[in-house]
Amino acid sequence: MAKTIIVSNRLPIKISRNENEQLEYQTSAGGLATGLGSIYKEGNNLWIGWPGLVTSKKEEKKEITESIGKESMFPIFLTEDDIRDFYEGFSNETLWPNFHYFTQYAIYEPRLWEAYKRVNRKFADEILKKTEPGDTLWVHDYQLMLVPGMLREAQPELSIGFFLHIPFPSYEIFRLLPWRRELLNGVLGSDLVGFHTYDDMRHFLSSASRLAGLSSSQGLVVVNNRQVMVDSFPMGIDYDKYAEAAASPGALEKEVYYRISLGDQKLILSIDRLDYSKGIPQRLEAFEMFFDRYPKYRDKVSLIMVVVPSRDSVGKYKELKEEVDRLVGRINGKYGKINWTPVHFFYRSFPLEELSAFYRMADVALVTPMRDGMNLVCKEFIASKINKKGVLILSEMCGASKELSDAILINPNDTNQLVEAINEALTMPEEEQIQHNTNMQNSLKRYNISHWVNLFMKSLTTIKEMQHSMQTRHLDELSQEKMLKEFSKANERLIFLDYDGTLTGFHSDPRDAKPDDELKEIMQNLVKEEKNKVVVISGRDKDTLGGWMGEFDVTLIAEHGIWMREVEKDWRTVVPIKGDWKKEIMPILEMYVQRTPGSFIEEKDFSLVWHYRKVETGLGELRTRELASHLKYISSNSNLQVLEGDHVVEIKDREVNKGRTAHQWLNQTSHDFVFAIGDDATDEDTFKAMPQEAYTIKVGSKTSAARFNVNSYKDVRALLKEMIAEG
Ligand code: UDP
Repeated sequence: MAKTIIVSNRLPIKISRNENEQLEYQTSAGGLATGLGSIYKEGNNLWIGWPGLVTSKKEEKKEITESIGKESMFPIFLTEDDIRDFYEGFSNETLWPNFHYFTQYAIYEPRLWEAYKRVNRKFADEILKKTEPGDTLWVHDYQLMLVPGMLREAQPELSIGFFLHIPFPSYEIFRLLPWRRELLNGVLGSDLVGFHTYDDMRHFLSSASRLAGLSSSQGLVVVNNRQVMVDSFPMGIDYDKYAEAAASPGALEKEVYYRISLGDQKLILSIDRLDYSKGIPQRLEAFEMFFDRYPKYRDKVSLIMVVVPSRDSVGKYKELKEEVDRLVGRINGKYGKINWTPVHFFYRSFPLEELSAFYRMADVALVTPMRDGMNLVCKEFIASKINKKGVLILSEMCGASKELSDAILINPNDTNQLVEAINEALTMPEEEQIQHNTNMQNSLKRYNISHWVNLFMKSLTTIKEMQHSMQTRHLDELSQEKMLKEFSKANERLIFLDYDGTLTGFHSDPRDAKPDDELKEIMQNLVKEEKNKVVVISGRDKDTLGGWMGEFDVTLIAEHGIWMREVEKDWRTVVPIKGDWKKEIMPILEMYVQRTPGSFIEEKDFSLVWHYRKVETGLGELRTRELASHLKYISSNSNLQVLEGDHVVEIKDREVNKGRTAHQWLNQTSHDFVFAIGDDATDEDTFKAMPQEAYTIKVGSKTSAARFNVNSYKDVRALLKEMIAEG
């Protein structure tokens, strides 16, 4: 049975040696591990990655493989060299600083790049040993950007998703990497590429376009005839876990204890891993300025600063730690009193219960990264606010700021603004705090970690289905022969012909596209045979189409399906079927609401409206385009019109499209052979409305729902002549 494999640099497990040199295992309780638990623990699914321990002993490797195998994990063992050059080196000293806009910290060393390639290859090889055709893979993060490409090369049919957990930088930054093309191509080996925010995906698409000449439409990029979907999936937290932990007696007990020790103080909380991207020194400087500017807060407000040790073998991190120590010392030395410490600094990590107590008791959370892919601390703080009181100050530079627009948003480079934000937070009326936190909690509850996992997996299935429905092949000799054979046997042949670009070439003046002698002859011969029922289906107005094609015994459909004229009858409008279309469209709009934080649906008597005024700038516009094309795709059987207004998309019961009219025609006419040919986007509706066995043919090489394609209108004419010759 097909399985799903999760791949990440680290497995969700920590293995260490105790004092007796025995191995100890501790599974991770992190949000990602919890969210993905619903996948890798099922059936014969797997999670592949490094178990976090370096060993060269065969026995130990065997023991680890067996032990974690029982937990649906499979280890890839990295050597000391791998860790130094691939992980600490290229991943954390090249990609990490570049992607976080700290280009001055990035080192570009071919030796590290070689290690990155080598270890990515090691991952790919091990994964392939475990992979069978039909499997789905979900590769995570910047350490493994080459893996999707390597997997695709080995097994072209796999379903591969990739998610980047850190920001994707602007093209101007990404291009600084000497290996930018390889990295890009590696990622594009996937079928679905996910980012936290719309801006990240926009940057990625811009790099794809500028570096590889790959243009995109509605987040779709065509790579070697394969459609790749690029989209944003803001990652959520395990909301219930944080809400429950904060409500637990343990957290409450700790809060009471800390409160008594600290006395009557307003508390500001900051929690980060030690990283220059987190803006820790800048935050301390703002805090110092805050006491300069507002002396009244001295001995009434303290900062609890938790910094979790991280990567301290890397030089830049060591320097950062020293700077933070120095700043904390300076502030405490300058303002501290016997009975008051301005900054309580902890350089270690805390278990959940303690964190929950911090989140509970903080009046203000100060989350001010210079750059952060998402940032989970701010979400955890909001989820922990059982009484809904407390204020979040949040940097615009982190992904979470796009969702948490009820926070006080600041630019972390603007110290002045940060100082004022702290004052504003400390004086914010309680009702206002409750209102903001209620809004943010509602959003975080809905867009939680399992929502994120499900959405990503669903999108991966969608793009695979789209790829299958878009497999257009060139109409080669063999297929043409087969088609002509079926055509010649058939007695009731239904032939749909688009006009411009299909029967004739394009002209700079559209009025010049009238039928030439060759086309007239083809039409005459085609309709002469009684078995052929020909429908010319065009976007042209009815007078033009009637003027040009009226002399032949064909049915005409004009203006994309609004007007129809059957042989020897008058023009009439195609009466829209008054269907119960809202029931069909509503779930689709709801799906867009699920995927787009801040959007909502309004139901009117004759229309449905999707509002996106409160959605992250850019994402709303993107979703609009997506929504419009999605509706087009599924509504070939209904009469809807999609109108784009000011931050709204309105779907109305009005129009008819080519596909719908063709479909109607198909239903009312008996047939044993169906042929439809066209060249542009509106003809896609026709193709989609056709039965599976129909010969649908796209003129041109763009991706299409048609089964076959030919190159130009000349090929169309040649093909029609062959059909005529069959009689
Ligand atoms: N965290 C923790 N113990 C601590 C401090 C933090 O487990 O003492 C967790 C915190 O709850 C959050 C994660 O570390 O889930 C930090 O994630 P975030 O996205 O904010 O930053 P990252 O470290 O991934 O850049």
